[in-house]
Amino acid sequence: MRRTSAFYIVAASLTLAAGAASLAAQTTPPPAGRNGGGGRSGRGTAFAPGDTSCPLGQTEIRPRTCMAPEFTPPSILDYRPRTTLVADAHMVKTSKYPSIDFHGHPGQLIFSEQGLDSLSRALDALNVRMMVSADNLSGDRLKSALAAVRANAKMKDRVRILAGIDFRNVGPGWAEKAVAQLEADVAAGAVGVGEISKSLGLSIKKPDGSRLKIDDPELDPIWDACARLKLPVFIHTADPSEFFKPIDYNNERWLELALFGDRRYPQDRFPSFETLSAERDNMFRKHPKTIFVAAHMGWIASDLKRLAKMMDEMPNVNTEVGAVLYDIGRQPRNMHDFFVKYQDRILFGKDSFQPEEYPYYWRVFETHDDYFDYYRNYHAFWKLYGIDLPDAVLKKVYNGNALRITPGLNAAFAAAK
Ligand SMILES: [Zn+2]
Repeated sequence: MRRTSAFYIVAASLTLAAGAASLAAQTTPPPAGRNGGGGRSGRGTAFAPGDTSCPLGQTEIRPRTCMAPEFTPPSILDYRPRTTLVADAHMVKTSKYPSIDFHGHPGQLIFSEQGLDSLSRALDALNVRMMVSADNLSGDRLKSALAAVRANAKMKDRVRILAGIDFRNVGPGWAEKAVAQLEADVAAGAVGVGEISKSLGLSIKKPDGSRLKIDDPELDPIWDACARLKLPVFIHTADPSEFFKPIDYNNERWLELALFGDRRYPQDRFPSFETLSAERDNMFRKHPKTIFVAAHMGWIASDLKRLAKMMDEMPNVNTEVGAVLYDIGRQPRNMHDFFVKYQDRILFGKDSFQPEEYPYYWRVFETHDDYFDYYRNYHAFWKLYGIDLPDAVLKKVYNGNALRITPGLNAAFAAAK
């Protein structure tokens, strides 16, 4: 009994001390404060007629009841809550099987011995056995990079290069020249094509000033040549769909769009996400013998049913995971099943070359860890989860699929240590 009454007294005085404001709100008319406090049934202000959400600056504290915080809220830049979740964390420094980065942007690193040496050290620390340069090299630039790679004993089998296509001046005579240049680049040592950049579709113009569409028939001979030469075509089309939408407070990429002006595609100046996707898919369909790799999971990793439909309709299309880890790691169960189902058609690629970011991919692919940080806040305001792929799937994603679709990688991958 004594314990019970002592507890009651402590609890009651805590309520009095800490809850003075709310007690006041319950017993006296609400002050006209900026928190909208008060109301007959307690704190908060009921929705205005017709509203379906709270006004800006307030949050829904009970169904259809809004309230503003008493303190000035932090901006999305400054709100950095530390998680209280205590759970196993499996950090993964190296990929479980030797990996091929199919979406490499090594830039200048592959043009000099010193650059290649530093690349080799970075890749060793990650278990990336091979980097595929997707920097659109062609002609003399390609030859100069290939010469540097071949001269480097450590890296001669660990870098392979995709050729670029020059989409300027597409018109009569363009295709013959482009195919001839591609054949020369393959003879020099290119093993595929890419990365075809998003500017195809978004911004490149034909000589008459019209937008060069991704499925323009004048491009057909180059895609057919890629089939004949057994070159996979690595293509980046459009960008995240939010980049094409109004930059309002419902936009999932608001911060990124506010930071980077060149990622905004106002719809009075650019084709829509749907237009670009439709052109790409039409081009994929027109060339069933050409092997395509849609970069960034086609920017539809947030809609796996749509991505699955694309994969089902077009067996010549593969996909690649660079820079969409935020979508992979936020739907671990469905993404696990997607990877298992399409395990023969998903390639590992990283995109922007930041060695410290690769381990986040390994952790998402290989563990079942819960709720951990992603490497770029402005991409995503959420946490990631491991998708815990089986070993057989990991091997294919890390190297088997790239080797199967790219004949020019196989001997080097086998020889590389
Ligand atoms: Zn890229």
